[in-house]
Amino acid sequence: MKPRAYVETWGCQMNLHQSEGLSGILEAAGYALVDHLEEADVVVFNGCMVRQKAEEKVFGRIGAVVELKRSRSVLLGVGGCLGQIHGADLLKRFASIDFVFGSSGHSDLPGLIEEARTQRVAVLSEPVFDTVNRFKRSGTISGMVTITEGCSNFCTYCIVPYARGPMRSRPEDLILSEVMRLREQGYREVLLLGQNVNAYGTDLEKAVTFPELLSAVADTGIERVRFTTSHPKDMSETVFRVMAKRENVCRHLHLACQSGSDAILKAMNRSYDRRHYMDIVKSGRKWVPDLNITTDIIVGFPGETDGDFERTMTLLEEARFGSVFAAKYSPRPNTRGAELPDDVPQATKEERLERILQRQREIALEENGRFVGNELAVLIEGRTKRGELFGRGDDHRTVICPGDAEMGEFVTVRIAGASASSLSGGILERECVGGMT
Ligand code: SAH
Ligand code: SF4
Repeated sequence: MKPRAYVETWGCQMNLHQSEGLSGILEAAGYALVDHLEEADVVVFNGCMVRQKAEEKVFGRIGAVVELKRSRSVLLGVGGCLGQIHGADLLKRFASIDFVFGSSGHSDLPGLIEEARTQRVAVLSEPVFDTVNRFKRSGTISGMVTITEGCSNFCTYCIVPYARGPMRSRPEDLILSEVMRLREQGYREVLLLGQNVNAYGTDLEKAVTFPELLSAVADTGIERVRFTTSHPKDMSETVFRVMAKRENVCRHLHLACQSGSDAILKAMNRSYDRRHYMDIVKSGRKWVPDLNITTDIIVGFPGETDGDFERTMTLLEEARFGSVFAAKYSPRPNTRGAELPDDVPQATKEERLERILQRQREIALEENGRFVGNELAVLIEGRTKRGELFGRGDDHRTVICPGDAEMGEFVTVRIAGASASSLSGGILERECVGGMT
């Protein structure tokens, strides 16, 4: 019988995609992949460290493996950003961890597991581009494609540059051949991944800009092209021109603002101010009128006063985001932010977070309400717990539509209802590609 492996992932889309690589490598090495930790001979945790809470969650899961180890032999490996930062310390801290791996270079994983059968081991990654190309993809409709790894920005709160090394761009031909392959396999959408996609190509010998890459990916004919994440400092108007011109480039921009206060943005080393951020928002909506802009916000960065926070609240009003991912600041090891006093009380952070979420819910409800009565092309991605179909408009809004359609089919939906998190309506027509009318 094949040895059974279980891979569990925390964190961002890049980690999810790396786990698709880990799973692919394990399968190619003869492992049977299982869906439950309890069934596995080898458990692999691909961990996140971006916030303290993410880190604690991974540590919390180790207990389940300890439990399993009481009754039979199981190997536990912990890696990703978490493994890269803590390294061999994890072996000292947790007797149940058998091997530690880093944030890239996972091709060696099967060898590492073999080594761990005789001795506990920690092998970290060099910051080189991972050549893994054996993904066991978690979906069949939308495929993730890495365009850059690592990050060279050093925002003062962020651990990513330490965990993943400097930004490395993947050569354009490899990206395009992967997109073509996905298209041939029946994928209808690709999501281009990087920590700062707009800086794509600046480190390549044959310089290719992100808008050029985006156009080339659109040329492959894949039906939807998405990308994440954009950094305001590198965002250029040309991206919007490509979006406006190319029907298959989706009208969604995830543009993390982090704060609406110039003083805090400076302390975060974000290299833009509020006015620059809003200029991008306005330019985006000029070129692409239905552009859905989503963002990330941190509340309670060291030194954030009530006044600073109010500026983030007013940014919500001005920018009218489609959705917001907001989090309380937590100091991360190695970062410059961790040297500053974490001086915003926990209760204040919670209060600020709640105010952001509350106001954003209202804004999202108002924004979504504008779509009622419109027709929207929706790519069907799954069923809700209640059994209704759901998918996304090209602007990334979730659309719930009771009725019949295949997974991965385009349908036209007439929007009849809106909540803060989704739109809903009946299917008018099946397999129809087009924009909002
Ligand atoms: N490269 C992306 C962000 C990747 S990290 C970008 O620059 O947009 C994802 C998000 O986690 C960040 O946008 C930030 O909002 C949040 N984050 C990162 N470090 C954090 C910390 N120390 N505390 C709280 N939130 C943090
Ligand atoms: Fe972290 Fe800033 Fe890089 Fe994003 S751009 S990964 S927030 S350092």
